[in-house]
Amino acid sequence: MEAVRTTAEGATRIKTKEVKAFGTQAADADLGQMNIQRRTPTPHDVEIEILYCGVCHSDLHTARNEWHGTIYPCVPGHEIVGRIVNVGSHVKKFKVGDSAAVGCMVDSCRECQYCKEGLEQYCEQGNIQTYNSPDKHLGTQTYGGYSESVVVHEDFVLRVPENLDLAATAPLLCAGITTYSPLKHWNVGAGKKVGIVGLGGLGHMGVKLAKAMGAEVIVFTTSTSKVEDAKRLGADDVVLSKDPDQMNRYAGKLHFVLDAVSAKHDINEYLNLLRVDGSLALVGAPEHPLPVAAFSLIPMRRSFAGSMIGGIPETQEMLDFCGRHNIVSDIEMIGIQQINEAYDRLLKGDVKYRFVIDMASLKK
Ligand code: NAP
Ligand code: ZN
Ligand code: ZN
Repeated sequence: MEAVRTTAEGATRIKTKEVKAFGTQAADADLGQMNIQRRTPTPHDVEIEILYCGVCHSDLHTARNEWHGTIYPCVPGHEIVGRIVNVGSHVKKFKVGDSAAVGCMVDSCRECQYCKEGLEQYCEQGNIQTYNSPDKHLGTQTYGGYSESVVVHEDFVLRVPENLDLAATAPLLCAGITTYSPLKHWNVGAGKKVGIVGLGGLGHMGVKLAKAMGAEVIVFTTSTSKVEDAKRLGADDVVLSKDPDQMNRYAGKLHFVLDAVSAKHDINEYLNLLRVDGSLALVGAPEHPLPVAAFSLIPMRRSFAGSMIGGIPETQEMLDFCGRHNIVSDIEMIGIQQINEAYDRLLKGDVKYRFVIDMASLKK
């Protein structure tokens, strides 16, 4: 097929291929099968047959328009692992048959100060996300990894270390980098006491990564059923956050807290865990604002910060780190037909610890 892209310079015709996908037409609709267009690879593009795609809570927030600004139809999915099936004439990094991965971004301006520093996620023009961003090639929105294949500029495609299981690697592309980047930025390592709040997809990766960096890791969970598991994942201690006595044990004790909670919660309870000059970085992105009390910050010169995914060079660094330390996600594999049920379970915190879609199921 052909798509006609009309810009200020005129109309361009782009050859496209129709592929199967799973997405939604509205905030209150279930996800279902649909067809989308993928461009024929341009000289620097690679075409990837998607083998596995992780299910991030951001997929759910976006599908249901919880952050507003979702463009429908919406095909989520930004934890993509697959095999290269086609390469453009100028592609240098990959060849047909290679395994490859795509995370939350597929492009950026490449010229601003942040892009030049490898911080494409903070691109001044706004990075092009894997789904729900303007697709400059086709004029539609970008469509994510709940699909048969994806076409991406080679600069935004990552290499997967050969020793890692492909399906369990998929969640590293968002949950992995989103926790790795702030842990590195706030110098987590030996001699540091680190709190991880919310043991979901992001949180469980945070535990594994902070532990591999040499820190003492304390997990804060609302789920009694996750206490023993948190220790198996590497936590030195686990606190049931509903129990004030358990919370008090760590008041003023932690150097750094990574908050990966997807829903409304009292952030002040976690700020109070920080020692003088400690920082709390929020990576969880609940739908509604979280009130912060001045006196959660002032008396101990604490910092309250945020962090968004990670740049392309750091994502490759994280994958290589995971390769060296043999770190992957704990996954529950599902077929794409179970995605709506998986979203319901995600909302109940009922996943240990990341759903990954076996994309072969889309061919059925
Ligand atoms: P997830 O697997 O659903 O995990 C979220 C965890 O938060 C749950 O497992 C649960 O942990 C805890 N939780 C849920 N509801 C809660 C509540 N009402 N009160 C307290 N704790 C609650 O989600 P995820 O995929 O890890 O994503 C987490 C958040 O990060 C989402 O908001 C997502 O959109 C966001 N995110 C941000 C970035 C970024 O760049 N900053 C990137 C990816 C995702 P316990 O059972 O242990 O309490
Ligand atoms: Zn994500
Ligand atoms: Zn830029």
